[in-house]
Amino acid sequence: TADTIQHTGDAKKEHRGGEHSMLAPFTAGWQMKAGVPLVIERGEGVYVWDNKGNKYVDALAGLWCTALGFSEKRLVAAAEKQLNTLPFYHNFWNRTTQPALDLAEQLVDLFTASKMSKVFFCNSGSEANDTQVKLVWYYNNALGRPNKKKFIARQKSYHGSTLVSASLTGLPSLQNGFDLPVSFVLHTDCPHYWRYHLPGESEEDFATRLAENLEKLILKEGPETIAAFIGEPVMGAGGVMPPPKTYWDKVQPILKKYDILLIADEVVCAFGRLGTMFGCDYYGIKPDLVSVAKALSSAYQPIGAVFVSQEIFDAIAKFSDGYGAFGHGFTYSGHPVPCAVSLEALKIYKEIDICAQVNKVIPPFQTGLRQLEKSSIVGEVRGVGLVCAIEFAADKETCEAFPAKWAVGTHFAGQCASRGMLVRVAGDIIMMSPPLIISPSEVDFMVKTAMAAVVETEKYVAEKLSHKEAS
Ligand code: PLP
Repeated sequence: TADTIQHTGDAKKEHRGGEHSMLAPFTAGWQMKAGVPLVIERGEGVYVWDNKGNKYVDALAGLWCTALGFSEKRLVAAAEKQLNTLPFYHNFWNRTTQPALDLAEQLVDLFTASKMSKVFFCNSGSEANDTQVKLVWYYNNALGRPNKKKFIARQKSYHGSTLVSASLTGLPSLQNGFDLPVSFVLHTDCPHYWRYHLPGESEEDFATRLAENLEKLILKEGPETIAAFIGEPVMGAGGVMPPPKTYWDKVQPILKKYDILLIADEVVCAFGRLGTMFGCDYYGIKPDLVSVAKALSSAYQPIGAVFVSQEIFDAIAKFSDGYGAFGHGFTYSGHPVPCAVSLEALKIYKEIDICAQVNKVIPPFQTGLRQLEKSSIVGEVRGVGLVCAIEFAADKETCEAFPAKWAVGTHFAGQCASRGMLVRVAGDIIMMSPPLIISPSEVDFMVKTAMAAVVETEKYVAEKLSHKEAS
């Protein structure tokens, strides 16, 4: 009976010392051993509930992805309808399904920052970025430039966790112990003004210096060896770092000058997060290739996509004829269920005018959270659109951090959770990126919760400091 199965399961679990059986992504070993993860059970609007009945505003929208919140019934209906009609068919060998064709068509039309002609489907942002590397290599081989293969990404960027996307990522935590990054990936400066500007350097001058450093790197390596530059319009998971003023205006001509492709990693920014349909629209970025995922289906189904320009497609199509086929794809590339859900998500974004909705809540979100900068323990509050980071620091000027063992960020996150808000913690950086459907009163709750949590965290830090002075 179910009871017996449950009982046997519990007995086995006890035997394992209470640990659960999942090798959990981005989770510390000690946490997996501690055996009591936070189990989220259901969701509604911008809220989720854990299995003990506690309600939280999910301030990161899952993982920057549930743009339409946790209970959009139209997405459920779209999935159900497609599952009942045709639960699966693939896109290999010139076969396809209507949802895949329609979605590709709509995405090509939706992206207007530069002209895209084709869409390749995959299952995630990591797969999208791995695909980018393969496409760019294939393209350069097609053009007879076999040496133009290196990639430039930025320190503290996040592009995924597969072998190549983790190499593009500029965070040691994804590379330590994995023998990464692979050798063809180079990293240039992180465009975080607060942390890296020189004394007296303006944002514009900082951007100029970074662009000059990029050019120096290209010249040092040899422009004939550099294939592409990949960047998030706003750096997200590495700590939310909007570029300094004029950054993209200065970087793009350098890439053009050396015939280096520009890949926009729009996995977080696309579909309204900055108040524009794409991050490229916000910053005037004109990429050759684009990666999207997450909000494409509002995360109700796994799906990612790569947008490809006409020029790149033409070279690939011609070259692939020599091999009989373009030899890349996944069983679930363009799976009809995620495609049907994504089509419905795009329809909803259009109907509710998602950018207008986001633009209404950006001012209270950004100005509200920025008030936290008044706190002596907050180094910087930064963000754009509906993404924001709060970084704690012992010294606002020098960016000096608090001792890691004080776990100031974790303390703040705990204070938020006990008041009904889940945030993302990365050391002493707190990140927020709520569902795009969030209302002004829910934004108000987020801001008030963060302010109350900061007051408690100030007391916690004061106590730590007094112990330090006493010892
Ligand atoms: N690119 C960016 C900018 C991301 O933020 C992420 C994930 O957070 C990825 C790529 C990887 O996406 P996924 O986790 O779906 O593989």
